[in-house]
Amino acid sequence: MDIAVIGTGYVGLVSGTCFADSGNDVTCVDIDEDKVAQLRDGQIPIYEPGLEPIFARSIREGRLRFTTEIQQAVGEADIVFLCLPTPPGGDGQADLSAVMSVAGQIGPLLEGYTVVVNKSTVPVGTGDRLEEAIAEKASSDRFAVVSNPEFLREGAAVEDFMKPERVVVGTDSDRAAETMTTLYEPFVRSGNPIITMDRRSAELTKYAANAMLATKITFMNEIANICERVGGNVDNIRRGIGTDSRIGKRFLFAGIGYGGSCFPKDVQAIHHTAGEHGYDFKIVDAVMSVNNSQKTSIVRKMERYYGTDDFSGKTFGMWGLSFKPETDDIREAPALYIAEELVGRGAKLLAYDPEAIGTFKEATSQVVLDNTTFVHNQQEALDDIDALVICTEWNEFRRPTVDRFQDHMKQPVIFDGRNLYNLERAAKAGITYISVGRPAVG
Ligand code: NAD
Repeated sequence: MDIAVIGTGYVGLVSGTCFADSGNDVTCVDIDEDKVAQLRDGQIPIYEPGLEPIFARSIREGRLRFTTEIQQAVGEADIVFLCLPTPPGGDGQADLSAVMSVAGQIGPLLEGYTVVVNKSTVPVGTGDRLEEAIAEKASSDRFAVVSNPEFLREGAAVEDFMKPERVVVGTDSDRAAETMTTLYEPFVRSGNPIITMDRRSAELTKYAANAMLATKITFMNEIANICERVGGNVDNIRRGIGTDSRIGKRFLFAGIGYGGSCFPKDVQAIHHTAGEHGYDFKIVDAVMSVNNSQKTSIVRKMERYYGTDDFSGKTFGMWGLSFKPETDDIREAPALYIAEELVGRGAKLLAYDPEAIGTFKEATSQVVLDNTTFVHNQQEALDDIDALVICTEWNEFRRPTVDRFQDHMKQPVIFDGRNLYNLERAAKAGITYISVGRPAVG
């Protein structure tokens, strides 16, 4: 099939490359000229495990192209995917300007029957708006608008896309549903379902999934906060409830809150949509407020430990800047907020992340940049620091050489926002270790 993918960010680039890898002819379009030039040059602008080999092979074999010219891509396409940003606008409402602007352009460009698939996360009813916008310039029997929300996780995007647990297709058109089934069949050979439904339900499914996951994380963070007050260990509670198949083992790890480009904005957006329809979605309101305070809960623990909110003269190491491991994405990352608060209290920082130093530097404030030294490896971030703050659970942080804490730090004090270490081992190693929802050590 001929496929056009409009928007070549995390979702567009991964989708386009994976569709090309399964034999389709894919043209990716982006308005960012530098990004397109880089991609044409064979360079991938994001860090995503497993993407490089299939990207290189698809380009080499002529199935994957990049352009800034939307008309080149859309005219010949059987399917046009919209993978455009939908950032939070005012009031937490999703900003649909990119999606609607592209919809306005594609109508006159459609040649044969074309399935226009929206993969961006959009409020319920956006498919109807897209249909109306395209129909202004194209007869309605020449196209169908389908909702196909994307569930990939950054850091495991290729694996998720290649073997999705399910594919959701929202359309009332049998013809469009058949095209989508043909396209996705190679990805669900192991028997996972392609779930076809009406377009509005498909749009809402994506928000429901993200709001449910954010709620699960936040619920465990609140249990952790209670553990800290009553003297429990959230790890034990996780094991105690995760074995209940109605609850499940995943997404039960306590920490310093969720971040990223999706959960925060999607939770906000579903709250907004509910409000617009006269419904007060109370659970997600609480989830947002708990998560905001959880992001910097570690700073309050540091204040209690030092007995002051003045950290002048102290230097803290930071391990991890990205919002989660295996990505360079720092959007809404707790590390951004923690760095701001620590520097605001007079501290200096020594920061390390395997992939996200560049993106962090672009996103953080001047005052954080002025007071932070970025280092090249995790050891260097220990040199002469007063304490280490762990913000992201990168694998390489899980088994550090323990002696290095003793040898390089002024005192071996660790504030761990991701519960990486075993409490007994930390105690044996003589480390002062303060984590989330577990008894403090030392
Ligand atoms: P992104 O910001 O990484 O990429 C969007 C791309 O679209 C950018 O390259 C940008 O230059 C391009 N663009 C903007 N306006 C354009 C226009 N008018 N024409 C052509 N290109 C244009 O965004 P993303 O993370 O890929 O997310 C895209 C959508 O998918 C969002 O709605 C997001 O909520 C959703 N989503 C994201 C993820 C994720 O993990 N990132 C997962 C599932 C769903």
